[in-house]
Amino acid sequence: MKAVLPDSRIPKRWYNILPDLPEPLAPPLDPETEEPIEPEKLRRIFAGELVKQEMSSERYIEIPKKVRKLYAKIGRPTPLFRATHLEKALGTPARIYFKYEGATVTGSHKINTALAQAYYAKEQGIERLVTETGAGQWGTALSLAGAFLGLNVRVYMARASYQQKPYRKTIMRLYGAEIYPSPSDRTNVGRRFLREDPNHPGGLGIAISEAIEDVLRDENARYALGSVLNHVLMHQTVIGLEAIDQMKEFEEPDIIIGCVGGGSNFAGLAYPFMKRKLEGKADYEFIAVEPRAAPSMTRGVYAYDYGDSGGYTPKMKMHTLGHTYYVPPIHAGGLRYHGLAPTLSVLINHGMVKPVAYHQNEVFQAAELFAKTEGIIPAPESAHAIKGVIERALKAKEEGREETILFNLSGHGLLDLGGYEAFLDGKLDDYEPDVFPAMAGGL
Ligand SMILES: *Cc1c(COP(=O)(O)O)cnc(C)c1O
Repeated sequence: MKAVLPDSRIPKRWYNILPDLPEPLAPPLDPETEEPIEPEKLRRIFAGELVKQEMSSERYIEIPKKVRKLYAKIGRPTPLFRATHLEKALGTPARIYFKYEGATVTGSHKINTALAQAYYAKEQGIERLVTETGAGQWGTALSLAGAFLGLNVRVYMARASYQQKPYRKTIMRLYGAEIYPSPSDRTNVGRRFLREDPNHPGGLGIAISEAIEDVLRDENARYALGSVLNHVLMHQTVIGLEAIDQMKEFEEPDIIIGCVGGGSNFAGLAYPFMKRKLEGKADYEFIAVEPRAAPSMTRGVYAYDYGDSGGYTPKMKMHTLGHTYYVPPIHAGGLRYHGLAPTLSVLINHGMVKPVAYHQNEVFQAAELFAKTEGIIPAPESAHAIKGVIERALKAKEEGREETILFNLSGHGLLDLGGYEAFLDGKLDDYEPDVFPAMAGGL
């Protein structure tokens, strides 16, 4: 399967928001010294080009030709749709558009950065990429990127998902990856958690620690992260750059909405529009939606914290619930994370992005209405964005206001039917802890 030449509508450059942020980012700290980390140390963990991009002050970075070709192959540009049947069902004067990342071959936006990361690793002569996956979308994307570019891929998958989502595992195996349930007995950190609980369900934070420990043992391996970091968010800006081009044929959006785990799909759609707002060329409202079970934006503290549970990653200044927080097992596995992208944290602090949080039952209800009206079964993660959109469209109706909403439908939910089944049977729990480790000295 080969797309005919890179589609001319695929962007040629990614947008890097770093030089345009309202304040400079606080530097990541070395977990051993608590001093700003040396790039040399980061290069042992990540491919060199990614470390460069992570700290780059260049506003645009060229997308390598090979990556653009692969973008065409996996289904870019992704379609832009208007949700007319949803509008009608809501009786709203708002017009609702969405970018559909579920249309890529792996079914979510994660492939946009997976291809870029695998490309740079391959160029550098790296042989293996190691990563974690929570719900499985990131592991799936990196496995395919490895298959396309000729790299071995090893994935640590949170044990609960490993057991509950066997089909994700099948897809990764078909793409040729090695998969281990996490915590595993392959790493010190994994064994530590297994000693605490032999049936430990795992989580993103633990799986990240295991993947990093694995990489540090193999000179020819590097780690790949699916969200949070600057370079990951930058690779995702193909979504927003395409959307600006596609919306030209229709109208300017007033409101931009996305769901947030680490922040990458939200930033991918929003940051190219944010650039215009930061320049004073346009005014948009940005709404970021998270689960109440993992409310880093609405209830987290802004502080330095680790990106993983084991304390191996550099410390980043971000909105966090505390790296020791065990996120309850909501079905939106991709949103079960304690932290948040540092750039998005800054934008929230400056009031540029408004965060909201919802419970999973109301989110699945929104997804059900969307499925009935538009036909697409959204990923439970993306359904958070849909809930945000519906609330906003109903408010427009109440106030008799016409407005244009654009949101990111980050992935399809065809491998999340277990969660939908539980919802239909009335068996979903809504979780919201009273206190989080970050507020109780757990940083
Ligand atoms: C991973 C994932 C998310 C959450 O991660 P972000 O980095 O916040 O985008 C959201 N939607 C889908 C479909 C995902 O796979």
